[in-house]
Amino acid sequence: MGVHMSSLPRRVGTLCAVVVTTVCLGALPAEAAPETSVREGAQAEALAQAIEVQEQLRERQQTLLSLNRRADARDRALLGRKAVLAAYGYHGDPERVRAVLPLASYRLSAGYGLTGPLWEAEHGGQDFSASLGEPIVAIAAGTVTEVAYAGPYGLRTIVVLPDGTEVWYCHQAEASVYAGQVVDVAEQIGTVGSTGNSTGPHLHLEVRPGAAGPTDPLAWLSAEGIAP
Ligand SMILES: [Zn+2]
Repeated sequence: MGVHMSSLPRRVGTLCAVVVTTVCLGALPAEAAPETSVREGAQAEALAQAIEVQEQLRERQQTLLSLNRRADARDRALLGRKAVLAAYGYHGDPERVRAVLPLASYRLSAGYGLTGPLWEAEHGGQDFSASLGEPIVAIAAGTVTEVAYAGPYGLRTIVVLPDGTEVWYCHQAEASVYAGQVVDVAEQIGTVGSTGNSTGPHLHLEVRPGAAGPTDPLAWLSAEGIAP
């Protein structure tokens, strides 16, 4: 028996120890002395215990594995969200995001408060020149109250924030939300177009606190920690 034991490869792990025990039990001579059967009984009990311990270990490992797998999936989801938010100018904790830029790729064009032949009065928003079809995302979470063609504003989506501030997204090619829909910050609401009074594809973003007159969207974003 000693020869059997030492000739087996010495591998680490309880499972190998169980295998060794099984091999040794099977190698017991049939004409064993009575005291051997007492030993046999003790060995069988030890074997049963070893198998039980092995089973418990396996179950614990399975639990750990599935816990790790779930943690991985959560990490990946968080990473994905983090990358999306970073593309829209937010670099903090994804769980605490309040505001983002409306576009990932743009060039600032006409600013707020300008006067000129294109506008009846002062320019009430900030223009972001972008490619036709560029996705527009909600700069803050809120409820969509209107998706409609609105004269010079073209296809306009209005989102009302919890504090009553209205955000207007104008000149869109397409809108992908509907009135009554609740949108999350950085959720796509439409695409850049050139509908209405527009000389080329761009987003006219308007921010109206308390649904009253407009304020400078860049100042509003800046107050939320978002810089273009
Ligand atoms: Zn504009």
